[in-house]
Amino acid sequence: MITDNVHALLSELAGGNGKGEAVTPVAATKTRTPEEINEAIEAGIADVGENKVQEFTAKFDAVRGGRRHFIGHLQTNKVKYLVGKADLIQSLDRTELADELQKRAERAGWTANCLLEVNIGSELSKSGFSLAEAKDAYKSLAAYPNLHLEGLMAMLPVSNDIAYLRALCLSMREIYDTIRMKDADCRILSMGMSGDWRLCVECGSNMVRLGTAIFGARRAPAANA
Ligand SMILES: *Cc1c(COP(=O)(O)O)cnc(C)c1O
Repeated sequence: MITDNVHALLSELAGGNGKGEAVTPVAATKTRTPEEINEAIEAGIADVGENKVQEFTAKFDAVRGGRRHFIGHLQTNKVKYLVGKADLIQSLDRTELADELQKRAERAGWTANCLLEVNIGSELSKSGFSLAEAKDAYKSLAAYPNLHLEGLMAMLPVSNDIAYLRALCLSMREIYDTIRMKDADCRILSMGMSGDWRLCVECGSNMVRLGTAIFGARRAPAANA
C-alpha cells in the first residue's frame, strides 16, 4: 500500500506546481515504524520528517537513507539532539530557538539548515512568526552565521472555506517571492499536508509534508500533530 501510494503521489507531482517548479514530497513519519519508512524510501521518497525529537533519535539509525527533516515544535532543551543530524529543520518558529541553534551549531562546527515557520492562519494553537513579521524575522535570522535559511514553512488552518485557504496560500507565496528576490538561498516553500496539498501546490508550494496520504491512517494520535 505504501509503495502504491508513493508511486501515485510521485506521478501526480511530476507535473510540478502552479509555477512550473518541481515539488519535493516529505514523508511525515510520526508514529510510523522504520520498516514503513524504509518502504517509502525504496518506493522513491527522498525526504523524511519527524515531529518529535524522541522519534527522530529512536529511528535515526534504522531508517536507511533519506534526507532527515525535523518538522515539529522544537523545545530549546532538545536542540542538542538534532545538531549534526537534521538535514533541514522546518520549524524555526521563534528567535529564542534561533539563538539556541546558533549557540549549539557554532560549538559543534555545524550549520543548521532551516525554514522559517509562519503562523499563516494566526492560530493561537500554532507557533511561528506572524505574516506581518515574517520578512524582517527572515532577514535577521538569515544573518546568524551558523544558520542557513532556505525558505518558509506554513501549516494551513482547518477550514472548509477554500477561498480563504487559497488566499492564505497565495499570501505565503507572495512573501516567499519577495524574500527570494533579495536572497537566492530562499528556495523552499513548504506548505501542504494530506488534506490540502493539492491546493497548496496549485498556489506555488514546492514542498509538501505528507503522512496519511503515504502511510494511511495513523495508529496512535500524535500529541502535537
Ligand atoms: C503530521 C504532520 C504532517 C502530515 O500530516 P498528514 O495530515 O498526515 O499528511 C505535516 N506537517 C507536520 C508538521 C506534521 O506534524
